[in-house]
Amino acid sequence: MIQRESKGDDALPGIGDHLAGLNPWNCIDVTGSGRRVLVIGGGPAGLMAAECARACGADVDLCEQLPSVARKFLIAGKGGLNLTHSEALVDFVARYRERAPQIGEWLRHFGPKALREWARALGHETVIGSSGRVFPADFKAGPLLRAWLRRIRASGVRVHCGWRWNGWDEAGHWRFESTGGAHALNADAVVLALGGGSWSRLGADARWRAPLAARGVDIAPLRAANCGFECAWSERLLERHAGAPIKGVSLRLADTASAEAPIGEFVLTRHGIEGSAVYALAAELRERIARDGHAELLLDLAPRRSQAQLTDTLKRERGKRTLAEHLRRCTGIDGARAALVFESPERAALADPARMAARIKSLSLRLTATRPLDEAISSAGGVRLEALTEALELRALPGVWCAGEMLDWEAPTGGYLLTACFASGWIAGHAAAKARP
Ligand SMILES: Cc1cc2nc3c(=O)[nH]c(=O)nc-3n(C[C@H](O)[C@H](O)[C@H](O)COP(=O)(O)OP(=O)(O)OC[C@H]3O[C@@H](n4cnc5c(N)ncnc54)[C@H](O)[C@@H]3O)c2cc1C
Repeated sequence: MIQRESKGDDALPGIGDHLAGLNPWNCIDVTGSGRRVLVIGGGPAGLMAAECARACGADVDLCEQLPSVARKFLIAGKGGLNLTHSEALVDFVARYRERAPQIGEWLRHFGPKALREWARALGHETVIGSSGRVFPADFKAGPLLRAWLRRIRASGVRVHCGWRWNGWDEAGHWRFESTGGAHALNADAVVLALGGGSWSRLGADARWRAPLAARGVDIAPLRAANCGFECAWSERLLERHAGAPIKGVSLRLADTASAEAPIGEFVLTRHGIEGSAVYALAAELRERIARDGHAELLLDLAPRRSQAQLTDTLKRERGKRTLAEHLRRCTGIDGARAALVFESPERAALADPARMAARIKSLSLRLTATRPLDEAISSAGGVRLEALTEALELRALPGVWCAGEMLDWEAPTGGYLLTACFASGWIAGHAAAKARP
């Protein structure tokens, strides 16, 4: 069994007392604390927890069910590996919505700046893209991950790949299956960093929910976040434009005041829409669909021009040109963007310049469902933060900490996901290594 002095929550140290002054990259304690920490899950959160626990002198084993670690992190590298964001911390923290107060605390210990320094210490400078997003200078995950794993292994962390945790045995030991057979491990402290519920082929299969729920851990249902949405397109649009990117547009929710929406892009899919401009609104859209059965999104296809400017330009002499050709010549809108304009049920009315301009500026899309969780970039839901202490220890299972996407928070794409995974791994790893046995 995990050995730990039993004490009430009030007696637990606050996150600040627990972690104050720790910096794993200049305080490697090779003498060891003698404390045995088991980390389960080899994504960015688990690797960070293992590295931090080891840096605090613990004896660390990390078990990963797949044949290699950090597969989702490597896939994130295909998009350039958006590690974090350079915006002001107050804006950064606000991206975590209702969880901003708690995650703001995590980021005080390991925030976007610390993450960039961590990458630099591994020999990988970071760069800021035009959108403020931060990437490794080579826009790759592989070299960074290899350098990190070298350092983790050299520090003495034992990494066991192909070991799947599947509950506890009768003696209360952590039970694993591997190709080499069954194993039962014991530890003074355990960090769970098992991922959320999307892209299950990369390991985040959410099978951890049943054993933890059976032990009284409060878990919010997993839902798709940063996901695509369903929208009924005409056969004509699907045939010609499924898969087309729609760039330089802005999207906003129909039922909110028309604050200036950022300019971004999305993709027309066979089922509807997906992409970064959609992900930024995904949580609100998902909530509206759950409440009303649908959500209405307003698309501005020409955000740099006013409706009056568009109306004026569309008043030009059309002659014998088709409406589509007139639209292209006057506004530059063609291809998939024009097809969206002509998806209108009142196509004939678009010959009126004012009606056409209004449609370009405020094209309504009716979204009826999220795409399945497994297709989403990330998941919302998971272990509720109320089920954890400030230092991320499970109240129902003292001696067990949690980190990463398996916790109940969400954020849009932009580097916010990885940053919170690293930060929570940092906290859980330190706390697990330092907690009094
Ligand atoms: C296509 C794609 C692109 C992305 N791009 C970005 C990006 O650019 N920037 C960004 O911030 N975020 C990005 N993300 C999200 C980011 O990758 C995840 O939020 C992050 O990897 C979550 O880290 P984690 O350690 O919590 O979980 P994971 O990375 O999912 O790792 C969990 C690990 O636990 C293991 N595990 C699960 N169950 C068990 C078990 N029972 N026993 C043993 N091991 C187990 C899994 O096999 C897995 O390796 C992207 C995601 C996807 C899918």
